[in-house]
Amino acid sequence: MKKVISIVVPCYNEEAVLGTWYDEMTRVAKEMKEVDFEFVLVDDGSSDGTLTEIEKLVRKDSRVRFVSFSRNFGKEAALLAGLEYAKGDYIATMDADLQDPPKLLPEMYKYIESGEYDCVGTRRVNRDGEPPIRSFFARIFYKLINRMSKIEMVDGARDYRLMTRQMVNAIISMREYNRYSKGLFSFVGFRTKWIEFKHVDRAAGETHWSFWKLFVYALEGICAFSTVPLVIAAVLGLLFCFVAFVMIVVIIVKTLAFGDPVSGWPSMICVVLMVGGLQMLALGVIGQYLAKTYLETKQRPVYIVRVTDEDVK
Ligand code: UDP
Ligand code: MG
Repeated sequence: MKKVISIVVPCYNEEAVLGTWYDEMTRVAKEMKEVDFEFVLVDDGSSDGTLTEIEKLVRKDSRVRFVSFSRNFGKEAALLAGLEYAKGDYIATMDADLQDPPKLLPEMYKYIESGEYDCVGTRRVNRDGEPPIRSFFARIFYKLINRMSKIEMVDGARDYRLMTRQMVNAIISMREYNRYSKGLFSFVGFRTKWIEFKHVDRAAGETHWSFWKLFVYALEGICAFSTVPLVIAAVLGLLFCFVAFVMIVVIIVKTLAFGDPVSGWPSMICVVLMVGGLQMLALGVIGQYLAKTYLETKQRPVYIVRVTDEDVK
């Protein structure tokens, strides 16, 4: 029996590029004669003709399966759905825009088939085609999160990886609502081989990530995999209590020794403002974690399916 590789592809408004992706993917699949393929396309509530494109592919090729969401749930949700629907022995996740080149698959498969690795990940070694300011913040983010969290996140790692069924089952078993895939992949462990490649531009269409969206996503990553911000808030609180205590002692001693000239109004306002600001910041940090906990306790589904290939076949 040939082994089956499932290729999971999250698609959000990708009508412009799906056809090209399919051509490139099937070309690579044809070269890999030792395995069978299954393509699981996840339509993340696209508002363009993505679903129609997918249905066209389903009619053309029986290896194509799909899940379509009732609305846009985000890439993390799409990835989870794809992993859950995939039936293969090995499972790969890949973007639709050909920024994750399918031609790397034979090499990735070689490593995983040897049994030496449970997962083959890919990372970009350069960040061309990206505004410098974004690369700068990305680098800071990876430095920060790797300091703050025990989970290691690899700079430039893409969500393009080939995994064993065992590893995928471990990922699916994590039922959290706030899913931060880079962290989840790393959390489950297993032996990972990293393959490096040069940045490739999007084949067509546009990126769905603005700077602001990426920034929020980065905060989510920190919040999901580290509680260090809470510790920082507590330590700052302690520090300021200590400083205030010393200042009180100094002022009392000074007043007793030299009387009480009314001065220092501006400096007092500064201190009040600063401490007030710090309190708000600490509250905000706690609020972030509380909000995440709130969402988790609701136990809402990560995604809602509207239609799958079984409904049309
Ligand atoms: N994507 C998705 N849901 C979203 C946003 C993106 O499924 O809400 C998919 C998108 O179709 C693509 C992948 O996630 O296959 C990566 O998106 P994009 O290329 O815009 O990100 P970038 O490569 O610019 O980081
Ligand atoms: Mg992309």
